[in-house]
Amino acid sequence: MEVTPETNAALVDKAVRLHRLTENELVRLLADEALTEELAAAADQVRHEYVGDGVHLRGLIEFSNICRQNCMYCGLRRDNPHTERYRLTVDEIVALARKAVGYGYHTVVLQSGEDMYFTAERMAEIIRRIKGLDLAVTLSLGERPREDYAAWREAGADRYLLRIETTDRALYEKLDPGMSWANRDRCLRDLKELGYEVGTGTLVGLPGQTLAMLARDILYYQRMDADMLGIGPLIPNQETPLGEAKPGDFDLTRRMVSLLRLLLPEANIPATTAMETMVPHGREIILASGANVVMPNVTEGDYRHKYALYPGKICVADTPAQCRSCMGGRIQAMGRYVAEDKGFRHHYGAVK
Ligand code: SAH
Ligand code: SF4
Repeated sequence: MEVTPETNAALVDKAVRLHRLTENELVRLLADEALTEELAAAADQVRHEYVGDGVHLRGLIEFSNICRQNCMYCGLRRDNPHTERYRLTVDEIVALARKAVGYGYHTVVLQSGEDMYFTAERMAEIIRRIKGLDLAVTLSLGERPREDYAAWREAGADRYLLRIETTDRALYEKLDPGMSWANRDRCLRDLKELGYEVGTGTLVGLPGQTLAMLARDILYYQRMDADMLGIGPLIPNQETPLGEAKPGDFDLTRRMVSLLRLLLPEANIPATTAMETMVPHGREIILASGANVVMPNVTEGDYRHKYALYPGKICVADTPAQCRSCMGGRIQAMGRYVAEDKGFRHHYGAVK
């Protein structure tokens, strides 16, 4: 019989061995500020064992900032009159993907607001053309009917990113007015069933969010067997109703990333841009705390600046080529390397 470990350090050891923790155990580790480094070191070890030292770069194309939704935290929300809206053409999107190949990326992430101009058919055309370039295609366009997801999978899309943001239904529906938690959950199930690699994740620091909710988020990801997990702190945006909210805590977000690596050892976990917006070199810190993916921006010129989910976004003045060489150098300086394959999820079974 398993003896209940008494110290939090013993809980970390247990997570390294068994990749399982209870909700209460997760809360204890999320709360333990003094354990941040130890947890990161344990997650870094598990990352090394399960997904290796390669860092996968995914070229991010932010192709439209037009959105029909009104999420309380996001600068692209439809009621924000200050965002100057743009939408790239199909040809422009494909041209950026072609450039991404030139920078050496093997995946592009097509991200946008929920812009219904991009119908199922129009998106399918974009996907087919980009798949002709021998790239893995990740989509992140929000909630759609199952038929749309099916058409895009048919067209060749490989992966889909849709953060659940929080698994607390009431909190979700308060902060995402007009949206239903059940529908977001339905989207994730549909995507899994259709054979996508599915990425989801938490926005850390939502007003009213508790450690127990974060713990339940982690268990939800484990139950659904998420393939990718994007975790980022809330960065208050003055142009939104959450402009005066407290920013998400960097170290709490970091502990959450580490716990995700311990409990979902095979997952691809990005060091998100929002982490670096909060702390210089934040992405390296997160890469050393369990993460193995970075998503450098491929969007060009003024559009980078206009795709403003939150303020203070890094590197808006850089060119995509600068981002590529900067990230490559930083990864090598850490003793890691830029992976040259498409970076699909490894499947070892529940425990290696
Ligand atoms: N419209 C799509 C994709 C773009 S939004 C969608 O909502 O899924 C991508 C992510 O940006 C969201 O999931 C959210 O977690 C994050 N985001 C939005 N506003 C933010 C803010 N103020 N601070 C930090 N992250 C934010
Ligand atoms: Fe739109 Fe996504 Fe922003 Fe919500 S988070 S307002 S769906 S872009």
